[in-house]
Amino acid sequence: DNDIDKVVAADRAHVWHHLSQHKPYETSDPRVIVEGKGMRVWDQNGKEHLDGVSGGVWTVNVGYGRERIANAVRDQLIKLNYFAGSAGSIPGAVFSERIISKMPGLTRVYFTNSGSEANEKAFKMVRQIAHKRYGGKKHKILFRERDYHGTTIACLSAGGQPERNAQYGPYTPGFVPVPHCLEYRAHEQGWGDLSGEAYGEAAANAIEEVILREGPDTVGAICLEPVTAGGGVIVPPEGYWPRVQEICRKYDVLLHIDEVVCGLGRTGTWFGYQHYGIEPDFVTMAKGVASGYAAIACCVTSERVFDMFKDDASDPMNYFRDISTFGGCTAGPAAALENMNIIEEEGLLENTIQMGDYMLDQLHALKDKHEVIGDVRGKGLFLGAELVKDRTTREPMEEKSVAAVTGDCMAQGVIIGMTNRSLPGYNNTLCYSPALIATKSDIDELIEATDKALTKVFG
Ligand code: PMP
Repeated sequence: DNDIDKVVAADRAHVWHHLSQHKPYETSDPRVIVEGKGMRVWDQNGKEHLDGVSGGVWTVNVGYGRERIANAVRDQLIKLNYFAGSAGSIPGAVFSERIISKMPGLTRVYFTNSGSEANEKAFKMVRQIAHKRYGGKKHKILFRERDYHGTTIACLSAGGQPERNAQYGPYTPGFVPVPHCLEYRAHEQGWGDLSGEAYGEAAANAIEEVILREGPDTVGAICLEPVTAGGGVIVPPEGYWPRVQEICRKYDVLLHIDEVVCGLGRTGTWFGYQHYGIEPDFVTMAKGVASGYAAIACCVTSERVFDMFKDDASDPMNYFRDISTFGGCTAGPAAALENMNIIEEEGLLENTIQMGDYMLDQLHALKDKHEVIGDVRGKGLFLGAELVKDRTTREPMEEKSVAAVTGDCMAQGVIIGMTNRSLPGYNNTLCYSPALIATKSDIDELIEATDKALTKVFG
């Protein structure tokens, strides 16, 4: 109606979205989502869409319109909306106990407002540990090509997508890249003709090379996504994680796993790292923690990390109140607790595994049919189909054509995503991350829409 048109006009005139809105096809998309229920959303014109991307960026894990989460937040806000520090932390304490019950070996939860800030906190702890324990020397933080960790200057300094970093420099020193582990693009890495476990081990060994080159006494931590999200839906091959863990132990390098996308069920386990039996020192999480019903993020650590700060109470910096005003604020953990209840009571981890396996099979069938799909991959309800111009050379499909596929799906009333727009070589993968409540028929609808769109765009 008229009011909505005015709101849309105000949005277009005054809201500064992300930078890619300066691209013509972004600004020409007139869609504003105004309502959601379950797997579906409606735009300002009342058109229904199947949401194949959980709110755009892997967030609404339990689906839209969850009254019990809204009620939990409402009840908490009326009881106590805010009080700083320990005086307002009852939901925070209850949530902390609950989340660490899913993370054996980890004990401490530091609350933040966003994934970026949670990662930033882990980076800061690594730097402090370097000062407290290693005379400031062991301060370097390794990150992986193609990974992404957030919007702050330090997170961008740990950003493995170089073009994304453009024009924000100078960056924070002490962040060092290690090679990606996307087997489909192994031919670009010059390690010979490796595949499967051998490739996984080679990609992990490349980390050791970087540590040796930099000097193990200068490397404090490594930050990795369990499954790389925006950089290409990359599931590290067998052989990768055990070797990474071994290398971290060998050189006393802390392992930071960025679960901002995978956390809270996306891959069918509470956390992505739990598929691989590894033991991280830091786990950061955000998006799915409260499925977008409130802003909440955190950095979870082991007691070993906590203890490194404990025995120097004489250090004046230990009294610096490095606490964020809204971190762990009551509404966030209240929503997050109810989110966990839903995941458990509705068996959403099991559903994610079943539906994820089904969807991966369907994507493989689509690959058999469409020459333009070079590779399909994924874990749980976190899947991708990489589009190429030529299956032999694996030359990435250009952005315009990939966007034409997502655009055609949109016209069909089905929202699917693509990996990072604007980054040549990174923006050619169709992305699927439906809510964890997805049914077989939802998945069939996502696949059919993609099938039709691929036929339309590529013939
Ligand atoms: N890490 C990863 C893996 C992400 O995908 C994102 C967000 N896209 C972030 C961190 C940053 O999280 P936030 O947007 O909440 O700051």
